[in-house]
Amino acid sequence: MHRTTLGDFELTVVSDGTYYLDGGAFFGVVPKTMWSKRAMPDEQNRLDVGLNSLLVRTGKKNILIETGIGNKLPEKLAQIYKQPTKLLDNLHAAGVAPEDIDIVINTHLHFDHCGWNTVRRGDKFVATFPNAKYYVQEKEWEHGRLQLERDAVSYMSPNYDPLIESGQMVLLNGDLELLPGISVKVFPGHTANMQAVMVESGAGNEKKTACYISDLIPTSAHIDLTWVMAFDLFPLQTIESRKKYYARAIPEKWLTVFTHDDQTPWGYVEKNDKGKLVLGDLK
Ligand SMILES: [Zn+2]
Repeated sequence: MHRTTLGDFELTVVSDGTYYLDGGAFFGVVPKTMWSKRAMPDEQNRLDVGLNSLLVRTGKKNILIETGIGNKLPEKLAQIYKQPTKLLDNLHAAGVAPEDIDIVINTHLHFDHCGWNTVRRGDKFVATFPNAKYYVQEKEWEHGRLQLERDAVSYMSPNYDPLIESGQMVLLNGDLELLPGISVKVFPGHTANMQAVMVESGAGNEKKTACYISDLIPTSAHIDLTWVMAFDLFPLQTIESRKKYYARAIPEKWLTVFTHDDQTPWGYVEKNDKGKLVLGDLK
């Protein structure tokens, strides 16, 4: 289990397991001869991709960022993607029960990011984390409701609408500090309103920062500006958002958390002496 301290906070990567994505879709316009040096696909061109949530313990509150695929996928989709259902076991291993989670943050509402928000109980869907407030951007939710041809398959309303009806999910409008040291910041590209989660602890020169950057930079193999997923609705904006992110994350040494990297869930992005973006050693 990957665990570290960040100032006064404790960070733990808790995974829902791995699922399959098509290698070509995962690396967009990058030729296979290039991406297959970083990630080796199976005979069906699939990659085994991580589902990393981040548990932040501040000492007062437990925050869970992202909730994986969950256990409610229709059978056909479960066959295509896999449905590993490991998140609750891994949370338990980290010493946390669902009742202990105070805040859940979804960076966006694609099914592989908010699946454990709810579980089925009889013919209803209820909060997996009964004492939590959930947060997502309002415009992300509105986009999902449109059920557009391009991405309707990604938006499954049982993952969030029951929580909005019960008042447990709060819809946000833009960047916001949710509690001291935990804030959200919109980075458009993957979707128009995907939010990253900033985690900051310590004062002055001692301040440490981590960022759960979600699908803006899904794995450590995607840190180059133009290695953009084919899933992204606004690839040019992904590149601009990455530039904005690196302009602070590199000089300020933010720990970047990668949602879909099952090998390297976090690391420090650096520029090497040739100006190429690389992942530095963890220190
Ligand atoms: Zn997504």
